[in-house]
Formats: sequence, structure tokens, C-alpha cells
Amino acid sequence: MSAITEKPARQGRPAVPVAPLPEHLLHGYEHFRDERLPHERERLFEMARSGQKPETMVIACCDSRVSPEVIFDCGPGEIFVVRNVANLVPPYAPDDAYHGTSAALEFAVQALKVQHIVVMGHGRCGGVHAFANKSSVALSPGDFIGKWMTLISPAAEELGEQRPDETVDAYAKRLEFQSIRTSLDNLMTFPCISTLVERGQLVLHGAYFEVATGKLHALDPDTGDFRNVIDGSAPAAIVAA
Ligand SMILES: [Zn+2]
Repeated sequence: MSAITEKPARQGRPAVPVAPLPEHLLHGYEHFRDERLPHERERLFEMARSGQKPETMVIACCDSRVSPEVIFDCGPGEIFVVRNVANLVPPYAPDDAYHGTSAALEFAVQALKVQHIVVMGHGRCGGVHAFANKSSVALSPGDFIGKWMTLISPAAEELGEQRPDETVDAYAKRLEFQSIRTSLDNLMTFPCISTLVERGQLVLHGAYFEVATGKLHALDPDTGDFRNVIDGSAPAAIVAA
């Protein structure tokens, strides 16, 4: 039996090539340190001592235009956020696979005891468009996006096929809304979530941020439709479709 030789650990030096942080991030941090940190320091110190206690979890897309902390004007410690491609919640699946979103849900509900979970979709979602546009090709041999986006299939089945007179963009917008409803359904497949919802200790919400206008819509529990949170109007995409 041949001996397995291991590379000696290199103290203080990572085994993969890394570089100093990009300038724009350093400039951003300097601005945070000079302008925002003086106002946040006391709260951060207190949270470092006592831990985080966010009341709300937000499940949002990785899309760089749709930052929950920016949209809801939140400071450190206010919302617990998990972001993935197309803000999808997978169904409860206690198996041997790695479940990042489910792990975040478990921590938020069981450890942090959040009282609200918001699934927030958005307009012009690249993940949803990749699913809606059936001619999309895999970005790498792994096709991780393609596999991940199969989670949206139940929403697509609920909607039906793209209408003959409908553009891919219009169909994708309908799918963006429907996938939020499907993710909310999937949240209820987690026993720890459904139990707390049924006891009235946890409330689920759907939201949709329109990138082009900055408008925020919320799922109306009475009608199942999305409505503007300020004036109650229907999203323009739905009216136009
Ligand atoms: Zn997206």
C-alpha cells in the first residue's frame, strides 16, 4: 500500500490564488467606515454581544439590482436574507444532498425564531427568463442554473404554456409572479414552518420588485393577486399581458 502524501499546510497563505480586494470595494468600505459606521457602531457592538434578532427573513434573487437591505431600507441586524438564483424555495427534502436555502430557512425559523418570511421576486429575472426561453443553452457543462430552475416547473405547469400572442418577456413576467406563489407553497412543506404558521407564530408573505420602476408589489391574501404596496394598483406587466 502506497503512502498518501499530503501537501504541508502553508501557514497564513491560502492554497488558492487570491488578490487584494478590488479598489471599488475598498472605497465603498471607506465610505461605510466614515459615514455610516459612526451611527451604527453602538448597535453593532450591542449585537456582537447579544447576537442577532431579526424578526423577518427575506428570500430574494442573487440579482445585483434587487438588494433587500436597500429596498426595505434596513440596517445591520434587521433582516435575515438568503439569496439564490430566481428566489426559489425548494420543497422539503431531508436527504443527503446539500441544501443551502433549506439550511438558511432552518436557522431562521428554529434558531432565530423569525416571525415573518418574505419571498421577494423581481422583474427581468435572468433565471426565470432562462427557463421561459427554451432555447437557452447551458452556461457550463454542469448546467447548474438549468437544474436549479427545474424547481420552477410546477409554477410553469400551473400557468400553462406561453400564449400564442404572448412574448417571451410577457410570459416570463407571469412566471415570475407564479413562482413566488409556488415558493410559498414549498415553504409550507417544511414541517417546522407549517406548524408555526398554523399556530399563528409565523406569517408568510409574497413580494415583487419591479426593477425598471422601483415599484414594490405584495401578494394580496384575499385575491391571490399582486398589488402595489402604496396605491393598490395592479402591476403594469399583468395589465399589458
Ligand atoms: Zn432574478
